[in-house]
Amino acid sequence: MSAFENYQKHLQQELDEIQSAGLYKNERIIVSPQSAAIKIGSGQEVLNFCANNYLGLSDSKELIDAAKEAMDTHGFGMSSVRFICGTQDLHKQLEAAISRFFGTEDAILYAACFDANGGVFEPLLNEQDAIISDSLNHASIIDGVRLCKAVRYRYANADMEDLEKQLKMAQAQRFRLIVTDGVFSMDGNVAPMDKIYELAQKYNAMIMVDESHSAGVVGHTGRGTTELFDLRGKVEIITGTLGKAFGGAIGGFTTGKKEIIDMLRQRSRPYLFSNSIPPAIAAAGIKMFEMIDKTNTLQDKLHANTEYFVSKLKAAGFDIKPTQSAICAVMLYDAKLSQDMASRLQEEGIYVTGFYYPVVPKGQARIRVQISAAHETAHLDKCIAAFTKIGKELNVI
Ligand SMILES: *Cc1c(COP(=O)(O)O)cnc(C)c1O
Repeated sequence: MSAFENYQKHLQQELDEIQSAGLYKNERIIVSPQSAAIKIGSGQEVLNFCANNYLGLSDSKELIDAAKEAMDTHGFGMSSVRFICGTQDLHKQLEAAISRFFGTEDAILYAACFDANGGVFEPLLNEQDAIISDSLNHASIIDGVRLCKAVRYRYANADMEDLEKQLKMAQAQRFRLIVTDGVFSMDGNVAPMDKIYELAQKYNAMIMVDESHSAGVVGHTGRGTTELFDLRGKVEIITGTLGKAFGGAIGGFTTGKKEIIDMLRQRSRPYLFSNSIPPAIAAAGIKMFEMIDKTNTLQDKLHANTEYFVSKLKAAGFDIKPTQSAICAVMLYDAKLSQDMASRLQEEGIYVTGFYYPVVPKGQARIRVQISAAHETAHLDKCIAAFTKIGKELNVI
């Protein structure tokens, strides 16, 4: 047998195991733009409740126009990393818009937030330092921390007693950085940034927050957890994505203290060794910040929609995780039930996803609903009615 034949057999075995464990991921095809109502491969029209399209900007005419115009004025691709010949005026303008939005000193763009998180720790900290990380932080933070030589501490999700314990141990190191997601994607809970800030002060630590699910969503004007907890300018590092609320295309960023961003421009590997984002994406990003700076309409609508949806679903008798974001976890506790319910809901024209172990802890299966400013009250009502109907049918309520 050739080397590949042996390996092929090995891979097929593992793939079969994934299949039989019920963990095989199938991609569901959408044939329309991303929006509140979408058309799927089967031709069925469904209401979408599982995109990160929080502000409903994924099919925004203004953003599409801005992107088209930038293709005409600035071309299609950059064919370069930023520091060789890949920086246009648009990239600098977008970085300035990001800093303005978050009230920070500077910002640096990446191809994705996965890269921002992958490239933030290693250049800033070494074996003399400590990273104290929430146990539910995003995979990209976990990978980024792995690439860094700092001593690692981990605390239970949003558990401030545990964080304090870890901070005490971390006094042995030179510099300390507490790292947390702003919103945790499976429950929709917000990191207790007020308490994290207090502990950081007490134990001489810096803070990094990943606002991927919170930027555009959390806080009165959607400026994230630092707005919600009145900590603007007080957190050293913020990372985030342009791939969720901010238009949903692609792109990530790190923003915060000037010297930190400056050092990332010198040493951050995904920045130094990966291509510049395309002009169309940069221009649409600039336009997007302009739009959500000018009026709070989308943020207000998202907040009102979320409040409406959660209160109606609770009133119908569903068990919902406490949420401060646009993520609403409808708890079912049973893996099979979560799959059955999701597929019955799709038959009713409601597009949602059931999550179960290992994506969430054993016995914590759920359907995660994501609310958007693109949803009209009629969409929400249809979703609530479908949940109520199927919930009764499956003896959930
Ligand atoms: C989605 C997400 C990312 C990845 O963002 P991309 O720009 O898609 O790479 C990183 N961190 C968190 C917390 C996320 O939710």
